[in-house]
Amino acid sequence: MPSCELCGKPVLEKKMITVDGTVFSVCLGCAKHGKPYNPAPLSARKKAPAPAKKIAMRDETMLDPEFPRLIREARMKKGLSHEQLGMQMNEKAALLRRFETGVLKPDEIFARKLERHLGIKLYIAADDAKKSE
Ligand SMILES: [Zn+2]
Repeated sequence: MPSCELCGKPVLEKKMITVDGTVFSVCLGCAKHGKPYNPAPLSARKKAPAPAKKIAMRDETMLDPEFPRLIREARMKKGLSHEQLGMQMNEKAALLRRFETGVLKPDEIFARKLERHLGIKLYIAADDAKKSE
């Protein structure tokens, strides 16, 4: 007598189930632990694979490598010191100094904040950056 592949008990009425994609022949009691196994009809398997569409990553952006100069110039134009801009943005002036010297790279949240406060664009399309190289 065949035994259940899950609990090992002898099986009177064998049931085919799938558990995580693996087919088991099990007893009635274990059958409820998996999905009923229905071999797909051949016609359904012949389905041609959908052509992989290449989606152009048009909105891929990167931090402008010129960000230290952009931040500095925009801040100067507004006549703000690091401290004043830092106060407006509720950020540390020391951080702004580091960004302007290029020692530190602002993360996206900070960069977006700078864009808003200074009215500048710090993100450029990655494509454009490659072209200008
Ligand atoms: Zn069983």
